[in-house]
Amino acid sequence: MYYIRRAAPRDPGSKIIFRFPVFLAALVLVFASCERLRDMVYPAADGGRTAESPDASSPHAGQPAVEEQADLEETIAALTRREQTEAGIVIGALNDAGLPPEIAVKLEAAVAESPAFILDLLACLKGDPFLRRLVDKSHALPEGYQPEDLVELAPGSYELGRQGLLLRRPAAEALEKMAAAARTDGVVLVASSTYRSYAYQVEVYNRNVRELGQAAADRESARPGYSQHQTGLAVDFGSIDDSFAQTRAGRWILEHGSRFGWSLSFPDGYEDITGYRWESWHYRYVGEDLAAFIDTWFGGIQQYALQFIHAWEKDGSNR
Ligand SMILES: [Zn+2]
Repeated sequence: MYYIRRAAPRDPGSKIIFRFPVFLAALVLVFASCERLRDMVYPAADGGRTAESPDASSPHAGQPAVEEQADLEETIAALTRREQTEAGIVIGALNDAGLPPEIAVKLEAAVAESPAFILDLLACLKGDPFLRRLVDKSHALPEGYQPEDLVELAPGSYELGRQGLLLRRPAAEALEKMAAAARTDGVVLVASSTYRSYAYQVEVYNRNVRELGQAAADRESARPGYSQHQTGLAVDFGSIDDSFAQTRAGRWILEHGSRFGWSLSFPDGYEDITGYRWESWHYRYVGEDLAAFIDTWFGGIQQYALQFIHAWEKDGSNR
């Protein structure tokens, strides 16, 4: 699905400017491959084959149009090269991202077939890079990272598990928006744990190691520097245990969360991929574009999409 049709951009100006070259490339490619369309638009360029061309009989009239046609073909060739380069990088990244082969193969076919995947990808790349940053067992945040726009949550449409919870401003706003929608469905969301500093994660992790042992602690909690909670974009909801999945809130967020930019980080059955056991309560704010990208192309598995984007940004850094 073309994401471009799905939601109104927050900043339409920058989105249009950002997408325009790709859109133009796609448009020109369609033109290039469609002989009939080209005949309609540039009748004289075909040597006056078409009856609609008033100058078809004049020996000189075709000359400027021929030059125009040559220019157009050059533009098409340049744009095609560019698109092929981009598609090549995407396909390379799909291979480098450590995705299951069947997913990589399916997405490679999608890239070859239409520009939809690349357009959706580009939509995710505008704005804050921390929304799409891979933060997992083997990818840490920058040393000493602390977000600059943390705000203290105040009960609004959602409730709070305790006082003093912090989130980054865009995540706090998206939480309010999601919670307001949940309220209209008669569901109350409770934010129980949000931003954790590096120092606090040291405490959480060490306590888990003391109480559960190293191996179990690693299934449950991140080492300091490797926690999504340190991004200020993650929320643990409700009871923070498996019973949350069966609650109305648990079911509601699973169904509707991505519409508001929230993505389940550690789904059931993906411990080998994410490194964490199923956490039905842990959501990360990734923004609406990326949440849609994850759902549309990666079956809702955030880890796959972030691994791919990580590989794509690395592979394409020389472009
Ligand atoms: Zn969590």
